[in-house]
Amino acid sequence: MIRVVTLDPIDDKQLAKFNRTLYTAFGVGSEHSGSAEIPAGMSEPLDAEKLVDAVKGIRAYTDDKVLLLTTRKLKDRELPSGTAPTVGFARQGKDRAVLSIHPHKDLESAYKGLARHALHQLGHLWELHHCLDPRCSMYPPWTPSFSQGEPIFCTFCREKSEQKIRLAKS
Ligand SMILES: [Zn+2]
Ligand SMILES: [Zn+2]
Repeated sequence: MIRVVTLDPIDDKQLAKFNRTLYTAFGVGSEHSGSAEIPAGMSEPLDAEKLVDAVKGIRAYTDDKVLLLTTRKLKDRELPSGTAPTVGFARQGKDRAVLSIHPHKDLESAYKGLARHALHQLGHLWELHHCLDPRCSMYPPWTPSFSQGEPIFCTFCREKSEQKIRLAKS
């Protein structure tokens, strides 16, 4: 199942809606599994890669996927053309990802775009790769139009994620 772990206070109603969106996209249970602390010594902007490894005290079982949710800014990523904001990060095929709501004041104020980024990062945890279909949440997230799309997968990515989820359960 998907466990959303909050690193900063986030409205319960908005979290419940967010979990319903994740459930719809993956067909697997998604719940708010409590909160965790940002490790001492980590300051804003947070290094997303270090953060996913360093957060302690998360209760999760084998095959659970953990999405850390923060309102704080993640360090910009370096691109050949300069730097770009980082909304999220996931280790391909592993069990943890992070999503930042920054610079939005809450989930609701940029709901679709943030949900789409969440699908994208969780997709990587289930080994999905980037997808050429611009409607799909696995489309490259640094593209300008990404956040305007719907939090959905194309048929190929949906089927691939379902297959991975089934394999993990058996
Ligand atoms: Zn990606
Ligand atoms: Zn796709």
